[in-house]
Amino acid sequence: MIPGPTEFEPEVMMAVGAPTTSHVAPDFIESFGHALEMMREVWLAPSGQPFIIAGSGTLAMDLAGANLVEPGDRALVISTGYFGDRYAELLKRYGAEVTALKAPAGEVVSDAAVETELKRKRYKLMTFTHVDTSTAVRVDPEPLGLLGEKHGVITVLDGVCSVAGEVIRQDEWKIDVVFTASQKAVGVPPGLALLVASPRAMEAWKGRKSPVGSYYSDWTHWLPVMKAYEERRPAYFGTPAVNLVSALEVSLRLILKEGMEARFRRHSDRGTAFRKAMRGMGLTMIPASEEVSANTLSAPLYPEGVKGADFMKAIGDSDVIVAGGLLPGIKDTYFRVGHMGAVTNGDILTTVAAIDGALSACGYRK
Ligand code: PMP
Repeated sequence: MIPGPTEFEPEVMMAVGAPTTSHVAPDFIESFGHALEMMREVWLAPSGQPFIIAGSGTLAMDLAGANLVEPGDRALVISTGYFGDRYAELLKRYGAEVTALKAPAGEVVSDAAVETELKRKRYKLMTFTHVDTSTAVRVDPEPLGLLGEKHGVITVLDGVCSVAGEVIRQDEWKIDVVFTASQKAVGVPPGLALLVASPRAMEAWKGRKSPVGSYYSDWTHWLPVMKAYEERRPAYFGTPAVNLVSALEVSLRLILKEGMEARFRRHSDRGTAFRKAMRGMGLTMIPASEEVSANTLSAPLYPEGVKGADFMKAIGDSDVIVAGGLLPGIKDTYFRVGHMGAVTNGDILTTVAAIDGALSACGYRK
Protein backbone atom coordinates (compact mmCIF):
# COMPACT_ATOMS: atom_id res chain seq x y z
CA MET A 1 0.00 0.00 0.00
CA ILE A 2 2.92 2.36 -0.70
CA PRO A 3 2.43 5.21 -3.17
CA GLY A 4 4.27 3.38 -5.96
CA PRO A 5 5.23 0.90 -7.16
CA THR A 6 1.57 0.00 -6.66
CA GLU A 7 -0.20 -3.36 -7.00
CA PHE A 8 -0.53 -4.51 -10.61
CA GLU A 9 -3.32 -6.43 -12.36
CA PRO A 10 -2.54 -10.09 -13.20
CA GLU A 11 -3.00 -9.44 -16.96
CA VAL A 12 -0.37 -6.71 -16.76
CA MET A 13 2.09 -9.03 -15.00
CA MET A 14 1.45 -11.70 -17.66
CA ALA A 15 2.61 -9.21 -20.30
CA VAL A 16 5.66 -8.31 -18.22
CA GLY A 17 6.57 -12.00 -17.95
CA ALA A 18 5.85 -12.94 -21.57
CA PRO A 19 8.76 -13.91 -23.88
CA THR A 20 10.44 -10.73 -25.10
CA THR A 21 9.98 -10.04 -28.79
CA SER A 22 11.96 -7.88 -31.17
CA HIS A 23 11.09 -4.19 -30.93
CA VAL A 24 10.28 -4.35 -34.65
CA ALA A 25 8.06 -7.47 -34.42
CA PRO A 26 4.61 -6.79 -35.94
CA ASP A 27 2.68 -7.54 -32.74
CA PHE A 28 4.94 -5.26 -30.72
CA ILE A 29 4.53 -2.45 -33.26
CA GLU A 30 0.76 -2.84 -32.86
CA SER A 31 1.00 -2.74 -29.02
CA PHE A 32 3.25 0.33 -29.03
CA GLY A 33 1.06 2.19 -31.54
CA HIS A 34 -2.12 1.34 -29.66
CA ALA A 35 -0.61 2.37 -26.30
CA LEU A 36 0.29 5.78 -27.77
CA GLU A 37 -3.26 6.22 -29.08
CA MET A 38 -4.81 5.23 -25.75
CA MET A 39 -2.64 7.71 -23.84
CA ARG A 40 -4.57 10.56 -25.54
CA GLU A 41 -7.81 9.07 -24.19
CA VAL A 42 -6.50 8.57 -20.66
CA TRP A 43 -4.95 12.06 -20.53
CA LEU A 44 -8.11 13.52 -22.18
CA ALA A 45 -5.79 15.20 -24.66
CA PRO A 46 -7.04 14.46 -28.18
CA SER A 47 -4.67 17.03 -29.70
CA GLY A 48 -1.58 15.96 -27.71
CA GLN A 49 1.64 14.26 -28.80
CA PRO A 50 2.32 11.23 -26.59
CA PHE A 51 5.78 9.93 -25.70
CA ILE A 52 6.64 6.56 -24.14
CA ILE A 53 10.31 6.41 -23.16
CA ALA A 54 12.24 3.98 -20.95
CA GLY A 55 13.10 5.63 -17.64
CA SER A 56 11.47 6.65 -14.37
CA GLY A 57 9.24 9.61 -13.53
CA THR A 58 12.30 11.79 -13.11
CA LEU A 59 13.06 11.21 -16.79
CA ALA A 60 9.56 12.49 -17.59
CA MET A 61 10.38 15.64 -15.59
CA ASP A 62 13.64 15.86 -17.51
CA LEU A 63 11.93 15.49 -20.91
CA ALA A 64 9.78 18.56 -20.27
CA GLY A 65 12.64 20.56 -18.74
CA ALA A 66 15.29 19.70 -21.32
CA ASN A 67 13.08 20.26 -24.36
CA LEU A 68 11.25 23.39 -23.27
CA VAL A 69 13.90 25.40 -21.42
CA GLU A 70 16.72 27.34 -23.03
CA PRO A 71 19.50 29.01 -21.05
CA GLY A 72 18.24 32.29 -19.58
CA ASP A 73 14.51 31.38 -19.79
CA ARG A 74 12.45 32.25 -16.75
CA ALA A 75 10.63 29.37 -15.06
CA LEU A 76 8.09 29.56 -12.24
CA VAL A 77 7.93 26.47 -10.04
CA ILE A 78 4.95 26.07 -7.75
CA SER A 79 6.07 23.71 -5.04
CA THR A 80 3.87 21.76 -2.66
CA GLY A 81 6.66 19.50 -1.44
CA TYR A 82 9.72 17.42 -2.27
CA PHE A 83 9.00 16.90 -5.98
CA GLY A 84 8.34 20.58 -6.67
CA ASP A 85 11.71 21.36 -5.07
CA ARG A 86 13.31 18.71 -7.29
CA TYR A 87 11.82 20.41 -10.36
CA ALA A 88 13.40 23.73 -9.43
CA GLU A 89 16.83 22.03 -9.26
CA LEU A 90 16.29 20.18 -12.54
CA LEU A 91 15.30 23.32 -14.48
CA LYS A 92 18.36 25.20 -13.20
CA ARG A 93 20.56 22.49 -14.80
CA TYR A 94 19.18 23.55 -18.18
CA GLY A 95 19.99 27.19 -17.51
CA ALA A 96 16.56 28.39 -16.38
CA GLU A 97 16.28 31.37 -14.10
CA VAL A 98 13.96 29.77 -11.55
CA THR A 99 11.53 31.46 -9.17
CA ALA A 100 9.88 29.07 -6.71
CA LEU A 101 6.59 29.77 -4.96
CA LYS A 102 6.59 27.34 -2.06
CA ALA A 103 3.53 26.41 -0.03
CA PRO A 104 3.92 25.53 3.66
CA ALA A 105 3.62 21.75 4.23
CA GLY A 106 -0.01 20.70 3.77
CA GLU A 107 -1.08 23.81 1.91
CA VAL A 108 -1.20 25.06 -1.68
CA VAL A 109 -0.08 28.34 -3.25
CA SER A 110 -3.15 30.48 -3.99
CA ASP A 111 -4.09 31.16 -7.62
CA ALA A 112 -3.99 34.88 -6.78
CA ALA A 113 -0.35 34.61 -5.67
CA VAL A 114 0.51 32.76 -8.89
CA GLU A 115 -1.20 35.41 -11.02
CA THR A 116 0.57 38.24 -9.16
CA GLU A 117 3.91 36.58 -9.95
CA LEU A 118 2.98 36.01 -13.60
CA LYS A 119 2.15 39.72 -13.91
CA ARG A 120 5.39 40.75 -12.20
CA LYS A 121 7.73 39.02 -14.66
CA ARG A 122 7.49 37.41 -18.08
CA TYR A 123 7.89 33.64 -17.70
CA LYS A 124 8.47 31.03 -20.38
CA LEU A 125 7.39 28.04 -18.29
CA MET A 126 5.41 27.23 -15.17
CA THR A 127 5.47 23.84 -13.41
CA PHE A 128 3.15 22.48 -10.72
CA THR A 129 2.76 19.10 -9.07
CA HIS A 130 -0.77 17.69 -9.19
CA VAL A 131 -0.24 15.46 -6.16
CA ASP A 132 3.01 15.89 -4.31
CA THR A 133 3.71 12.38 -3.06
CA SER A 134 5.68 13.73 -0.10
CA THR A 135 2.68 15.59 1.36
CA ALA A 136 -0.44 14.07 -0.29
CA VAL A 137 -1.43 17.64 -1.13
CA ARG A 138 -3.46 18.01 -4.32
CA VAL A 139 -3.31 21.17 -6.38
CA ASP A 140 -6.22 22.15 -8.66
CA PRO A 141 -4.54 22.23 -12.09
CA GLU A 142 -7.48 23.77 -13.99
CA PRO A 143 -7.09 27.43 -12.93
CA LEU A 144 -3.30 27.17 -13.32
CA GLY A 145 -3.64 25.87 -16.88
CA LEU A 146 -5.98 28.72 -17.72
CA LEU A 147 -3.64 31.27 -16.06
CA GLY A 148 -0.77 29.90 -18.14
CA GLU A 149 -2.79 30.35 -21.32
CA LYS A 150 -3.84 33.88 -20.33
CA HIS A 151 -0.25 34.97 -19.67
CA GLY A 152 1.39 33.08 -22.56
CA VAL A 153 3.30 30.71 -20.28
CA ILE A 154 3.87 27.03 -21.09
CA THR A 155 2.33 24.95 -18.32
CA VAL A 156 3.80 21.66 -17.12
CA LEU A 157 1.90 19.34 -14.78
CA ASP A 158 3.82 16.72 -12.83
CA GLY A 159 1.12 14.05 -12.79
CA VAL A 160 3.35 11.22 -11.57
CA CYS A 161 1.07 10.59 -8.59
CA SER A 162 -2.17 11.52 -10.33
CA VAL A 163 -2.56 10.49 -14.00
CA ALA A 164 -5.26 7.79 -14.27
CA GLY A 165 -6.33 8.44 -10.67
CA GLU A 166 -7.13 12.12 -10.15
CA VAL A 167 -9.24 14.09 -12.64
CA ILE A 168 -7.12 15.50 -15.48
CA ARG A 169 -8.57 17.06 -18.63
CA GLN A 170 -5.39 18.17 -20.36
CA ASP A 171 -6.91 19.75 -23.49
CA GLU A 172 -9.88 21.38 -21.77
CA TRP A 173 -7.69 22.79 -19.00
CA LYS A 174 -5.07 24.04 -21.51
CA ILE A 175 -2.17 22.31 -19.82
CA ASP A 176 0.75 22.01 -22.24
CA VAL A 177 2.57 19.04 -20.76
CA VAL A 178 1.22 16.31 -18.48
CA PHE A 179 3.51 13.44 -17.52
CA THR A 180 3.61 10.42 -15.27
CA ALA A 181 5.58 7.24 -14.58
CA SER A 182 4.34 3.70 -15.15
CA GLN A 183 4.49 2.49 -11.54
CA LYS A 184 1.70 4.62 -10.08
CA ALA A 185 -1.99 4.83 -11.04
CA VAL A 186 -1.22 3.77 -14.63
CA GLY A 187 -0.51 0.35 -13.15
CA VAL A 188 2.68 -0.98 -14.81
CA PRO A 189 5.96 -1.87 -13.05
CA PRO A 190 8.58 0.92 -12.85
CA GLY A 191 10.52 1.79 -15.98
CA LEU A 192 8.44 3.97 -18.31
CA ALA A 193 8.26 7.75 -18.51
CA LEU A 194 4.93 8.76 -20.08
CA LEU A 195 4.30 12.28 -21.35
CA VAL A 196 1.76 14.09 -23.53
CA ALA A 197 2.68 17.48 -25.02
CA SER A 198 0.24 20.02 -26.51
CA PRO A 199 0.69 21.49 -30.01
CA ARG A 200 1.79 24.73 -28.28
CA ALA A 201 4.54 22.90 -26.35
CA MET A 202 5.71 21.20 -29.55
CA GLU A 203 5.82 24.60 -31.31
CA ALA A 204 7.88 26.05 -28.47
CA TRP A 205 10.31 23.14 -28.78
CA LYS A 206 10.51 23.50 -32.57
CA GLY A 207 11.24 27.22 -32.20
CA ARG A 208 14.29 26.69 -29.96
CA LYS A 209 17.42 28.63 -30.79
CA SER A 210 19.82 26.36 -28.92
CA PRO A 211 20.15 22.56 -29.02
CA VAL A 212 18.51 20.49 -26.27
CA GLY A 213 21.01 20.07 -23.43
CA SER A 214 20.35 16.33 -22.94
CA TYR A 215 21.14 13.78 -25.65
CA TYR A 216 18.76 11.06 -24.36
CA SER A 217 15.83 13.38 -23.63
CA ASP A 218 15.93 15.32 -26.91
CA TRP A 219 12.55 15.06 -28.69
CA THR A 220 14.46 15.36 -32.00
CA HIS A 221 15.34 11.70 -31.49
CA TRP A 222 12.06 10.49 -30.06
CA LEU A 223 9.35 12.29 -32.03
CA PRO A 224 10.01 10.36 -35.28
CA VAL A 225 9.93 7.10 -33.29
CA MET A 226 6.56 7.90 -31.67
CA LYS A 227 5.10 9.00 -35.01
CA ALA A 228 6.35 5.85 -36.75
CA TYR A 229 4.89 3.44 -34.19
CA GLU A 230 1.56 5.24 -34.31
CA GLU A 231 1.60 4.74 -38.08
CA ARG A 232 2.43 1.09 -37.38
CA ARG A 233 5.97 1.35 -38.76
CA PRO A 234 9.09 0.30 -36.86
CA ALA A 235 11.64 2.95 -35.94
CA TYR A 236 14.67 3.14 -33.70
CA PHE A 237 16.47 5.58 -31.49
CA GLY A 238 16.99 3.61 -28.27
CA THR A 239 15.69 0.07 -27.73
CA PRO A 240 12.20 0.35 -26.20
CA ALA A 241 11.42 -1.49 -22.95
CA VAL A 242 9.52 -4.10 -24.96
CA ASN A 243 7.79 -5.97 -22.12
CA LEU A 244 6.86 -2.81 -20.23
CA VAL A 245 5.38 -1.21 -23.33
CA SER A 246 3.33 -4.37 -23.99
CA ALA A 247 2.21 -4.30 -20.35
CA LEU A 248 1.30 -0.62 -20.71
CA GLU A 249 -0.96 -1.47 -23.62
CA VAL A 250 -2.74 -4.04 -21.43
CA SER A 251 -3.08 -1.65 -18.51
CA LEU A 252 -4.36 1.26 -20.62
CA ARG A 253 -6.96 -1.07 -22.13
CA LEU A 254 -8.14 -2.01 -18.62
CA ILE A 255 -8.22 1.66 -17.59
CA LEU A 256 -10.33 2.63 -20.61
CA LYS A 257 -12.58 -0.38 -20.07
CA GLU A 258 -13.32 0.95 -16.58
CA GLY A 259 -13.85 4.42 -18.16
CA MET A 260 -12.13 7.62 -17.11
CA GLU A 261 -15.09 9.16 -15.27
CA ALA A 262 -15.78 5.91 -13.36
CA ARG A 263 -12.08 5.63 -12.53
CA PHE A 264 -11.92 9.20 -11.23
CA ARG A 265 -15.01 8.51 -9.10
CA ARG A 266 -13.59 5.26 -7.74
CA HIS A 267 -10.39 6.99 -6.65
CA SER A 268 -12.35 9.82 -5.07
CA ASP A 269 -14.60 7.36 -3.18
CA ARG A 270 -11.66 5.25 -1.93
CA GLY A 271 -9.60 8.29 -0.93
CA THR A 272 -12.53 9.85 0.93
CA ALA A 273 -13.33 6.58 2.71
CA PHE A 274 -9.71 6.12 3.78
CA ARG A 275 -9.44 9.65 5.18
CA LYS A 276 -12.74 9.21 7.03
CA ALA A 277 -11.44 6.02 8.59
CA MET A 278 -8.22 7.78 9.70
CA ARG A 279 -10.17 10.66 11.19
CA GLY A 280 -12.46 8.16 12.90
CA MET A 281 -9.35 6.83 14.67
CA GLY A 282 -8.54 10.36 15.79
CA LEU A 283 -5.70 10.96 13.31
CA THR A 284 -5.12 14.20 11.43
CA MET A 285 -3.62 14.50 7.97
CA ILE A 286 -0.79 16.58 6.45
CA PRO A 287 -3.13 18.21 3.85
CA ALA A 288 -4.84 21.13 5.56
CA SER A 289 -8.35 20.45 4.18
CA GLU A 290 -10.44 17.94 2.20
CA GLU A 291 -10.22 20.27 -0.79
CA VAL A 292 -6.44 19.89 -1.04
CA SER A 293 -6.34 16.18 -0.13
CA ALA A 294 -5.20 13.73 -2.79
CA ASN A 295 -7.26 10.66 -3.60
CA THR A 296 -4.26 8.64 -4.75
CA LEU A 297 -2.50 8.60 -1.38
CA SER A 298 -2.93 9.85 2.18
CA ALA A 299 -0.43 11.19 4.71
CA PRO A 300 -1.70 10.74 8.31
CA LEU A 301 0.30 12.19 11.21
CA TYR A 302 1.25 9.89 14.07
CA PRO A 303 -0.94 10.64 17.07
CA GLU A 304 0.72 12.05 20.15
CA GLY A 305 2.75 9.48 22.02
CA VAL A 306 3.28 7.18 19.00
CA LYS A 307 6.80 7.03 17.60
CA GLY A 308 7.21 6.40 13.87
CA ALA A 309 9.83 3.68 14.33
CA ASP A 310 7.56 1.76 16.77
CA PHE A 311 4.55 2.09 14.46
CA MET A 312 6.52 0.85 11.44
CA LYS A 313 7.80 -2.11 13.43
CA ALA A 314 4.28 -2.96 14.64
CA ILE A 315 2.63 -2.69 11.22
CA GLY A 316 5.52 -4.74 9.79
CA ASP A 317 4.02 -7.70 11.67
CA SER A 318 0.89 -7.49 9.50
CA ASP A 319 0.84 -8.20 5.76
CA VAL A 320 0.35 -4.53 4.98
CA ILE A 321 3.25 -2.39 3.82
CA VAL A 322 2.96 1.38 4.16
CA ALA A 323 5.57 4.10 3.51
CA GLY A 324 7.27 6.49 5.94
CA GLY A 325 7.25 10.28 5.64
CA LEU A 326 9.36 11.99 2.98
CA LEU A 327 9.38 15.74 3.45
CA PRO A 328 12.69 16.84 5.03
CA GLY A 329 12.18 18.39 8.46
CA ILE A 330 8.90 16.64 9.27
CA LYS A 331 9.41 13.18 7.76
CA ASP A 332 9.36 11.39 11.11
CA THR A 333 5.98 12.83 12.07
CA TYR A 334 3.79 11.02 9.52
CA PHE A 335 3.38 8.00 7.26
CA ARG A 336 1.98 7.53 3.77
CA VAL A 337 -0.53 5.10 2.32
CA GLY A 338 -1.10 4.71 -1.41
CA HIS A 339 -4.62 3.88 -2.58
CA MET A 340 -4.42 4.21 -6.35
CA GLY A 341 -4.72 1.98 -9.38
CA ALA A 342 -5.67 -1.62 -8.74
CA VAL A 343 -6.36 -1.10 -5.01
CA THR A 344 -9.62 -2.75 -3.92
CA ASN A 345 -12.10 -1.98 -1.16
CA GLY A 346 -10.78 -5.09 0.58
CA ASP A 347 -7.24 -3.66 0.50
CA ILE A 348 -8.51 -0.44 2.08
CA LEU A 349 -10.33 -2.32 4.86
CA THR A 350 -7.33 -4.56 5.55
CA THR A 351 -5.04 -1.52 5.70
CA VAL A 352 -7.33 0.38 8.06
CA ALA A 353 -7.44 -2.67 10.35
CA ALA A 354 -3.63 -3.04 10.22
CA ILE A 355 -3.13 0.65 11.10
CA ASP A 356 -5.61 0.31 13.97
CA GLY A 357 -3.78 -2.77 15.25
CA ALA A 358 -0.35 -1.14 14.98
CA LEU A 359 -1.51 2.00 16.79
CA SER A 360 -2.97 -0.15 19.59
CA ALA A 361 0.32 -2.08 19.83
CA CYS A 362 2.03 1.31 20.31
CA GLY A 363 -0.27 2.04 23.25
CA TYR A 364 -2.56 4.45 21.39
CA ARG A 365 -6.17 4.63 22.54
CA LYS A 366 -8.60 7.03 20.98
N1 PMP B 1 7.05 13.44 -9.19
C1 PMP B 1 6.25 12.91 -8.26
C2 PMP B 1 5.02 13.66 -7.86
C3 PMP B 1 6.56 11.67 -7.70
O1 PMP B 1 5.75 11.13 -6.79
C4 PMP B 1 7.72 10.98 -8.11
C5 PMP B 1 8.09 9.63 -7.53
N2 PMP B 1 7.47 9.19 -6.44
C6 PMP B 1 8.53 11.58 -9.08
C7 PMP B 1 8.15 12.80 -9.60
C8 PMP B 1 9.77 10.92 -9.56
O2 PMP B 1 9.47 9.70 -10.15
P1 PMP B 1 10.52 8.48 -10.14
O3 PMP B 1 10.76 8.09 -8.73
O4 PMP B 1 9.81 7.41 -10.94
O5 PMP B 1 11.75 8.99 -10.82
